[in-house]
Amino acid sequence: MDAAPRSFDELPTDPAYGVPVPFAAGTEVGATVRDLDKRRVTQCALSRVCGVCGATLGRPLAFVGSRRELDRLSFHFPPSHVDCVESLLEAYADVVDPVLGQDTRPGDWVVVTAASFEFVRPGRDDVDRRPLFEPRIPALVP
Ligand SMILES: [Zn+2]
Repeated sequence: MDAAPRSFDELPTDPAYGVPVPFAAGTEVGATVRDLDKRRVTQCALSRVCGVCGATLGRPLAFVGSRRELDRLSFHFPPSHVDCVESLLEAYADVVDPVLGQDTRPGDWVVVTAASFEFVRPGRDDVDRRPLFEPRIPALVP
């Protein structure tokens, strides 16, 4: 299993949509953009690597997701390089289905940047068993 970091240009292509499959959605042959890969998501959090390309993160961190995720400041997709998120949104511009485990399509996604984040694992009673990323935005912290 090859989980080595790669560049955006080297990401595998989803067979159905013809768009790049980000690191957090899986790195194995046959990985698709439909859902996130929980192991890769956790790896992103613990190793502080980009959810899109899998390489080490710097600052700022970019968080991408639905408007609802932004309102809650709680994202399913791991923090990523700003450039990677921009490339991803550009590549996904024509995708009209909700992908990457989102409930809205890429055209409706928003991006927010932050310097740090909190990794939140699901609790025993949580209906949504997926881990979450909460950006720490200085202006919003009391
Ligand atoms: Zn990246």
